[in-house]
Amino acid sequence: MATIRQQIIALLRNEEVNALEISQLLSIREKEVYEHLDHISRTLSSQGKRLLVRPYACMKCGFLFKDRHRFNRPGRCPRCKGGHISMASYHIEEQQT
Ligand SMILES: [Zn+2]
Repeated sequence: MATIRQQIIALLRNEEVNALEISQLLSIREKEVYEHLDHISRTLSSQGKRLLVRPYACMKCGFLFKDRHRFNRPGRCPRCKGGHISMASYHIEEQQT
């Protein structure tokens, strides 16, 4: 049986998903998803792959959290202080050589 981490990697190779979707599909807590993503992103580069991140975005002013290095949800928008943030989503890119 594949480990949770392997299952997440398989999902990310097939489609673009966000943390809530991963959490629901694999029946794990959202917090655990972020921990796995952190580990996955660090180990993928050694395999010639990359975790592509479509960043969190403020639903009020459109601010993109492009420079965020952590995976968990940001609390507030630094620009407009709004609290409605759309989820980031993730996808694994196989590098072409
Ligand atoms: Zn904003």
